[in-house]
Amino acid sequence: MTSMPKSRSAGSPTVPEGWEAVMGFEIHVQLSTETKMFCSCPVSFGDQPNTNVCPLCLGYPGTLPAVNERVLEYATKIALALNCEIAPYTIFHRKNYFYPDLPKGYQISQHDLPLGMGGHLDVELEDGTVHRVGITRVHMEDDAAKLVHAGGVEGRIAGADYSMVDFNRSGTPLVEIVSEPDIFAPEQARAFLTQLRNLLEQLDVSDLNMEEGSLRCDANVSMHRPGTPFGIRTELKNMNSFRFLQRGLEAEIQRQADVLERGEEVVQETVHFDPSSGKVSVLRSKGEAHDYRYFPDPDLVPIQLDVAYVEKVRAALPELPAARKERYMRDFGLPAYDAGVLSANRWLALYFERVAGLVEDAKLSANWVMGDFSGYLNAAGLEVEDASIGPETLAELLQLLKEGTLSSKMAKDVFVLMVETGESAKTIVAERGMGQISDTATLEAMVAELVAAHPGPAEEFRQGREKVLGFFVGKIMKETKGQANPQLLNDLLRKALQP
Ligand code: ADP
Ligand code: MG
Ligand code: ZN
Repeated sequence: MTSMPKSRSAGSPTVPEGWEAVMGFEIHVQLSTETKMFCSCPVSFGDQPNTNVCPLCLGYPGTLPAVNERVLEYATKIALALNCEIAPYTIFHRKNYFYPDLPKGYQISQHDLPLGMGGHLDVELEDGTVHRVGITRVHMEDDAAKLVHAGGVEGRIAGADYSMVDFNRSGTPLVEIVSEPDIFAPEQARAFLTQLRNLLEQLDVSDLNMEEGSLRCDANVSMHRPGTPFGIRTELKNMNSFRFLQRGLEAEIQRQADVLERGEEVVQETVHFDPSSGKVSVLRSKGEAHDYRYFPDPDLVPIQLDVAYVEKVRAALPELPAARKERYMRDFGLPAYDAGVLSANRWLALYFERVAGLVEDAKLSANWVMGDFSGYLNAAGLEVEDASIGPETLAELLQLLKEGTLSSKMAKDVFVLMVETGESAKTIVAERGMGQISDTATLEAMVAELVAAHPGPAEEFRQGREKVLGFFVGKIMKETKGQANPQLLNDLLRKALQP
């Protein structure tokens, strides 16, 4: 008897028993080049509408595009970082369709000869296992203009029922990354996307701001019984956070499972997730019978990338998160968890390395960067690079902790004061007399005086009543307002109380 194939969604709390969910992603990354893809208009976000435009990106007839070399370089970086083969010969296609945000009447994209193919990303899952997601292709294309609904939040014209077109975005370079349908649970999807974003962040090719649309993500989802062919997929469009995307996938998986359990069929269409209601709704569309009439763009010459060029770009790639994590484990002796957290974000990694270099204690630095420091960033809604507590400032505090001037508890209090006052750890400790008393001579004198004043308890201790030690510790702590170094005090008391 052959057993049923196991569902690769197994273990996911959100995929119904007996089913396997299948997901593949199309991710659009807006490149942060200075100028647009085929003209010299600046790429920028938030400028006055229709100020960064020219006849080319407005789609006037008779204009001729010229490829921005930076776009090619950035796209090659992305494709290489995702372990793709770089096509030695690549061309642009016209993808024809009509929409008000597309003045040319076509998007310049790549069709059957994309820049990169056959890559992968190794995604670390929550249980520590590594899951390889195939990258089908990486290609370049230009972005459309932006439609602003006059009555909407951006348009802000009360009651208006028309839309306005802002062509500033028209012709902005994009890279599209298409994954294989290799993802089987919403939790995996989130891990994949987060790690993909972390990887892209190291490459410094995009600001990756999801709210501003510089990272856009479409998810394809289907359901089937393991061992049977893949099901019909729907597409969850344009989610603007990975958390919502995960929740949207959970809701869509449940919806599809319900449809299939009823014996009905999933229809290939676009679905929309509303985070406030937690529900998906179907955007009944014209079906997926697109015919874009792709054909090679006669205005653009084919691109032949020679090996030397590709190898030059490869050699200039920065250290990627996976390699950095390895290095943290190897060189700093950090546990895998710490190394993973700290290496994921480029700025956090730089911050940590600077602190660890100054303090010369990697684990202590890691604990603080991941703990109190990250907690402060979250609470203040700040990014690492905007933190008012720089690495040198944090390192100064950790020095005081390391040399025993501050206990861990005190260091936490000082850190809070540093955030509140903007003063350095040393200043705070000096001004408020917060230091721990670690001076042997001072404590020794106090201990000697105390023991002499309480001969009774001292004798009890010598008879073996260990508990009496607490009595002496308490007295000194009271006298020093808790600032005596506890370890040192303990040692000195035991010495003084010896028979
Ligand atoms: P299209 O260009 O029409 O969107 P593609 O074949 O390029 O179609 O696939 C787009 C995305 O859909 C890819 O990320 C792919 O992994 C994913 N995909 C394909 N088939 C399925 C399926 N049955 N279930 C889920 N995702 C799928
Ligand atoms: Mg698609
Ligand atoms: Zn232009």
